[in-house]
Amino acid sequence: MPLADIQNRVKAACQKAGRGLQDVELIAVSKVQPNARVEAVLDAGQRVFGENRVQEAQGKWPEFKARFAGVTLHLIGPLQSNKVKPAMSLFDAIHTLDREKLARRIAAEAQARGACPELFVQVNTGEEPQKAGVLPAEVDDFIKTCQGFDLKIKGLMCIPPVGEEPSLHFALLAKMAKRNGLSGLSMGMSRDFESAIALGATHVRVGSAIFGERVMAAG
Ligand SMILES: *Cc1c(COP(=O)(O)O)cnc(C)c1O
Repeated sequence: MPLADIQNRVKAACQKAGRGLQDVELIAVSKVQPNARVEAVLDAGQRVFGENRVQEAQGKWPEFKARFAGVTLHLIGPLQSNKVKPAMSLFDAIHTLDREKLARRIAAEAQARGACPELFVQVNTGEEPQKAGVLPAEVDDFIKTCQGFDLKIKGLMCIPPVGEEPSLHFALLAKMAKRNGLSGLSMGMSRDFESAIALGATHVRVGSAIFGERVMAAG
């Protein structure tokens, strides 16, 4: 069970950066993992998980939540506006807020419920055409738009381009969060969570390093 190894690496990275362990949340990304592996990680004590797809999460988490107390779920994949309702029923945090229509839907649903998950704005720091996220030049305005809908934005999230030095993207994201007065930084995955912690990550999203390689391609 490598969960303890990853926890130790998170701890070491925090110490090295002069940060408290309580300042960094380890999100175990369980997308497309077999239930037996997820259960083993729950048995080992992990309670914070990330999923990419609403439908997949709906299929497995209600039962796990009934059996294991204190689970929190983070949506880290794209959210379609027509899935906002089920997403807000199941998830405690949404890391992929990236367009006005989605912000409007979430705001309306939050009004209706009197509650809202923690929200992160996804930023396309590499300006990749195929990737979701707000462009860096539009981040400040988009955050203001969301706040205008009475949404409380916790922080920013990014997925650096494959093949580029991730720390440049982490540093850029941290700068954008800072100038907007946001404290949350969702950045760092299996390959690079230690450098993300060094650059201020408050939420690292670690999948394969905890669970092993994903058997199927992640959607
Ligand atoms: C799959 C995924 C992760 C985890 O990736 P690993 O490389 O397996 O750690 C993190 N963030 C997002 C947005 C993902 O889709």
